[in-house]
Amino acid sequence: MTTIGVLGLQGAVEEHLKQIESLGLQGIVVKKPEQLEEIDGLILPGGESTAMRRLIDQYGFLEPLKQFSDIKKPIFGTCAGMVLAANKLVGSEDSHLNIIDITVKRNAFGRQRDSFEAELDIYGIETPITAVFIRAPYIEKAGENVEVLAKLEEKIVAARQEHILVCAFHPELTADTRFLQLFVQMIEDYKQIAV
Ligand code: GLN
Repeated sequence: MTTIGVLGLQGAVEEHLKQIESLGLQGIVVKKPEQLEEIDGLILPGGESTAMRRLIDQYGFLEPLKQFSDIKKPIFGTCAGMVLAANKLVGSEDSHLNIIDITVKRNAFGRQRDSFEAELDIYGIETPITAVFIRAPYIEKAGENVEVLAKLEEKIVAARQEHILVCAFHPELTADTRFLQLFVQMIEDYKQIAV
């Protein structure tokens, strides 16, 4: 049975669990670092990256999360989760997990477009998905080993590097599970090589 954990410190946790379960997989809320050992892949949800980082430090998650990535277990960062995963943030000296070679701009679509929906073509998905953006970041620069999966108005909004998948939108807020299935496939691939 494939088990996907959702980092449960802050943000949109429940919606991810529902989507995971709708695919017949097991979803668990990860509230303690030890739980990382029980899961095949981890979702870093949307929410508020600065608040999430504070809680990551408070609950001793920083090193365990980096180790989880070091052994190439798949991680999927959505929105604030993408901010956490990035190795550089525009206008800031600080970054968080440094597990994907992207430079992310936070709250990047401006106040006027605080939250909106867009039809998005995603590499690897046959027809467009409806993507929900909420105070969304975008990827200003992607390293050469990063695969760009989607762009909106020339801005990169979904990408993958090896075992790390990120998107600027909230795939858990629609009934369409196809983006999550990209992540599930990464987990299945990992399990193949890990045995
Ligand atoms: N703007 C938030 C941040 O930078 C992300 C918003 C979201 O996750 N919906 O943390």
